[in-house]
Amino acid sequence: MAQALGIDLGTTFSAVAVVGADDRPAVLRNREGENITPSVVLFSDDQVLVGSTAARTAATMPDDCVRFVKRFMGDPHWSFVDSRGTEYRPEEISAFILRRLADDAELALGTRVDDVVVTVPAYFDDARRKATLDAAEIAGLHALRLVNEPTAAAVAYGLDETEHGTCLVYDLGGGTFDVTLMRIAGGEFDVLATDGDRNLGGFDFDNELMLRVNAFVGERGGPDLFDGGVLEADLREKCELAKRTLTNVPRASVFVSADGANHQVQITRAEFEELTASLLDRTRTILESLLEAAGVGWDGIDHILLVGGSTRMPMVRAMVERLSGRPPEIGINPDEAVAYGAAVVADLTAAERSGGERRAGSAGPVSISDVTSQSLGVLAYDETTRRPVNVVVVPKNSSIPCQHEERFVTLQENQTEWLFEITEGDDPDPDYVVKLQETPIALPRGLPRGSEMKVTMSYDVDGVVHVVVTEAKTDRSIGELELDRPLNLERSDVDRMRSAMARLEVR
Ligand code: ADP
Ligand code: MG
Repeated sequence: MAQALGIDLGTTFSAVAVVGADDRPAVLRNREGENITPSVVLFSDDQVLVGSTAARTAATMPDDCVRFVKRFMGDPHWSFVDSRGTEYRPEEISAFILRRLADDAELALGTRVDDVVVTVPAYFDDARRKATLDAAEIAGLHALRLVNEPTAAAVAYGLDETEHGTCLVYDLGGGTFDVTLMRIAGGEFDVLATDGDRNLGGFDFDNELMLRVNAFVGERGGPDLFDGGVLEADLREKCELAKRTLTNVPRASVFVSADGANHQVQITRAEFEELTASLLDRTRTILESLLEAAGVGWDGIDHILLVGGSTRMPMVRAMVERLSGRPPEIGINPDEAVAYGAAVVADLTAAERSGGERRAGSAGPVSISDVTSQSLGVLAYDETTRRPVNVVVVPKNSSIPCQHEERFVTLQENQTEWLFEITEGDDPDPDYVVKLQETPIALPRGLPRGSEMKVTMSYDVDGVVHVVVTEAKTDRSIGELELDRPLNLERSDVDRMRSAMARLEVR
């Protein structure tokens, strides 16, 4: 059976893992020998660079370098224009990263890889999920499914279908903070609540250190290192390294040379923790208000998982331990956990699709399903109240894939058209739900008033929704549609980008 990759497509770093012959997930090293690859893309004349080389060259070619593209997925108004005037959509830039990750994985495995499972934050809406799927397709990959990052992390920590409990995932990465509360039961991972700060991560901790070093150098007559160019990039790289060092030892030094002078700045862990205390505190506030809103106390939580490279910092562990009154679960590298879980899901999905049995003796969950985060419904007219009403067809928290049915009746004698409006939200009042799409459906002639129509909505594992309308009496199909998201690329764009990508060299 061909191997399927699990890909953690991160805001600042990405990782790839695969389930090996020993039935355990392992992270694959990239061509530079690193476990994680910076999610940085650099466009030069005839090639596209991804990863550490791109990150290092970024300072000298800032106009051709893109970071943090994940923040813009599903945003129809965002694009990147390089110094030659070529425009790229977020899906394309993510595709370059995915292509590079897959190429490196093929190199490490010695085989061709097509099938992947890509992770997305739990808060990603349909448009962002669809954008992620499009990115995989542009990269020439086949996405078996998407999986929520906290779900992948829980799977990596071995929370499988035997688990029944509540799990809190605290994910502090490079550019984002996400906290998710999940209920796990019978292999279903139900997101109870999720919150976060899309602009809070390791990057901000680096910034504090950079400010401190710059101030020190300034006091000694040195130049301003925040030059928006090479000095600043050098400062960032060195401060990030010092930050990592402080995770392991109580003291680190930053050496900077500028204007022909060398400066050494010493920093202790205690000083660093003081500099960044307010950042850590922001994560505490978000975490506590999430628990409060969900009405869950620390004693109602069975597992606390730390995910994201920044949770390696001792102050994060200490804070979570202090708040919860117990040590968080450890044992997996926090910046690899999501990729591990994705690999397990990929292995499982690939086995299921090929109709094969799970390999004997393998540990891990037998089934994993995410649930829908929003209810989907249809607008109708309530004859008793004589008011429009929102009828939920797929209730939120339905485990996906799923299919739900609801019946409606025609309002007029010989009604010829039904203006079919799909909604997102729970409220019966149409004013309190989001109208996603309006499609006129032609009805067959001669239907008496009150003719019954059956609406079937199916939600597949990628969050793509198909709708079929049939006349209940004859079971004849009257209309079929796919929930169309104007935020996403057109089919023809995806095809064009995909063939353009196949001609390009991604290094
Ligand atoms: P992403 O947010 O893209 O998912 P990661 O989870 O890999 O990324 O987190 C990346 C962040 O983790 C970076 O800011 C990096 O500096 C930080 N980080 C990685 N290792 C350490 C460490 N040992 N100590 C402190 N921070 C670390
Ligand atoms: Mg991450």
